[in-house]
Amino acid sequence: MGKNAGGSGTGKLGDSRKKTSKSLKRFLKGIKDYALRKDQSDAFNLYAEKFGIRANDIKITNNYVEYGITGLTADGRIIIELNAKFFAQRKKAVEKAIIVKYRAGESVSTKQPSKHVLTHELAHATWRSDYTGQRHIEARSDIYKLFSDWKSNRSAVKYYGALSKTHIDEFWAEVVTKALYGTPDEYTKRARSIIKKHRL
Ligand SMILES: [Zn+2]
Repeated sequence: MGKNAGGSGTGKLGDSRKKTSKSLKRFLKGIKDYALRKDQSDAFNLYAEKFGIRANDIKITNNYVEYGITGLTADGRIIIELNAKFFAQRKKAVEKAIIVKYRAGESVSTKQPSKHVLTHELAHATWRSDYTGQRHIEARSDIYKLFSDWKSNRSAVKYYGALSKTHIDEFWAEVVTKALYGTPDEYTKRARSIIKKHRL
């Protein structure tokens, strides 16, 4: 487990952010549409400010059908990979693609759809059920409780969309994204306080 990946550590908030900023710059450079590029930069900075960046690297990939994916390497590095084709579009097209998911009930709605993918992946970097850092493990019971409380609230399950139901990790990424860009609710508030409490 790497220092940042474990979140266990002594890793100061700034460490990962500074390092990741370099790869973020490369990612931003590849985005042609100015408005979309600015949104990704803003999304990164807001996340850094509110929760801290736990990803070790952000890469552009041509390999995936998903818009974004967060992986853990064997040596414990958290890598976010973002779909080159998706981010090569204009902001309007990106928004449209995400709004389609909102309307289809696949994903939780936010007011800033163009920031959804990056924020969702940054949230995976904050916590995932298979991370083994001390803080990650300590946060598990709170997050599992949050997930089960949410699942027992039928209307909440409905408006969060299908993705959140598939796995606790997806629910987590969606509730954190909603916390930043959607309408606050009891679950987004609890998610925020869990991040704080466990210093995720
Ligand atoms: Zn996800």
